[in-house]
Amino acid sequence: MIVNEEKISRVPLCPVHLIGMGLADLTLVWPFANDIENIEVSRCHAPGCVYTYSRTDGYFRFCAGGSIRSEEGLVSLCPEHRLALYISEYDSQGKIATWCCPDIDCEMSKKSRVD
Ligand SMILES: [Zn+2]
Ligand SMILES: [Zn+2]
Repeated sequence: MIVNEEKISRVPLCPVHLIGMGLADLTLVWPFANDIENIEVSRCHAPGCVYTYSRTDGYFRFCAGGSIRSEEGLVSLCPEHRLALYISEYDSQGKIATWCCPDIDCEMSKKSRVD
């Protein structure tokens, strides 16, 4: 029997809590451009957690007042799709996080240590 692995959309994990994030709409306000942008993001459900992920910006912290602070250590791009990788799996024993590209057909993945 051949089992075709189904391409389910993978859920990004919060880089701090390492639990699955939920989809949310985020309204970004750009004070200098006087512009408002709605983006679809994933957000952590843990109380008080401000970590957010978007395909284009990677992980960032969404702070009160609508400002975002990206974290350089948490953003790396897929060289092919130029999309920000997310943590798709976490091995709590080895403390190894697996990063994937949000493009569903992309095979790119890398591992890094999370302490
Ligand atoms: Zn979190
Ligand atoms: Zn990719």
